[in-house]
Amino acid sequence: MLDYMNLCRMAQLARERSISLGALVLADQAEQMETTEEKILETMDRQLTVMEQSAEKGCSATIRSMSGLTGGDAWKMYERACRGVSICGDFCVNAITTALAVAECNAAMGRIVASPTAGSCGILPGAVLTMMRKKKIERKTAIMALICAGGIGMVIANKASLSGAAGGCQAECGSASAMAAAALVEMAGGTPQMALDAAAMALKNQMGLVCDPVAGLVEVPCIKRNAAGVMIAITAADMALAGIQSVIPVDEVIEAMRDVGEAMPCALRETAQGGIAATPTARELTRKIFEKGENK
Ligand code: SF4
Repeated sequence: MLDYMNLCRMAQLARERSISLGALVLADQAEQMETTEEKILETMDRQLTVMEQSAEKGCSATIRSMSGLTGGDAWKMYERACRGVSICGDFCVNAITTALAVAECNAAMGRIVASPTAGSCGILPGAVLTMMRKKKIERKTAIMALICAGGIGMVIANKASLSGAAGGCQAECGSASAMAAAALVEMAGGTPQMALDAAAMALKNQMGLVCDPVAGLVEVPCIKRNAAGVMIAITAADMALAGIQSVIPVDEVIEAMRDVGEAMPCALRETAQGGIAATPTARELTRKIFEKGENK
């Protein structure tokens, strides 16, 4: 059985067996859950379908969250992608659109896959669905990449946290970016070590990110952090695929993220009392949202 506390050891095992991280996790999970690999693949296929559906639902000019704070931004990005004028290019603008769409679907109470959480649900689909569409990656490969991402997420959950309330947004969006970066590397045919380097680089670049949702709602700044999170994942994956290594091993990066999260003051851990949530505009929006709720 795998030790989901040690990603470096997992990569070593995958290397010794000449398999991907995803394949290593799949075989182990089938054994641990006393099921077949086929059954797990079927489950992950359904998760991928939900991701596709939420990306489609969220990319709408008219979608709005219950608070009225957010909605329609994925559509604006989609229109920009269609015009072919984006600064960051076709692949990235599509990844941003998808990440925004899934996160906006979540804010509008639509069905999403928490990957690893609802607040960070756009990052992994932004990476995986865009690879499928733009790089013609097969569905089976995408499903294996989701399993690889799941393995990374399990280790982060065991060694640190995936919760904004416990570890700040670095634990949610940072972890999602790490998972997406590893998934991108696997989909591109990189080695297990490259996947870990990508995960480490993605997580390092969100180290210290606070959790500060306006009015306590998973909308602002969460939705746009999903867009930025997928871009960090893409950058980290391409760096790793180029042979750039993380100087600090991924397991140590995760431990550092845990320590930073524990050092964060309460106001910056999903209490909506600090950061963006404490700005004058955020306070005014909060007052209006709760006033509207009371008058209903
Ligand atoms: S700011 Fe907080 S609630 Fe929003 S995505 Fe980040 S961790 Fe989640």
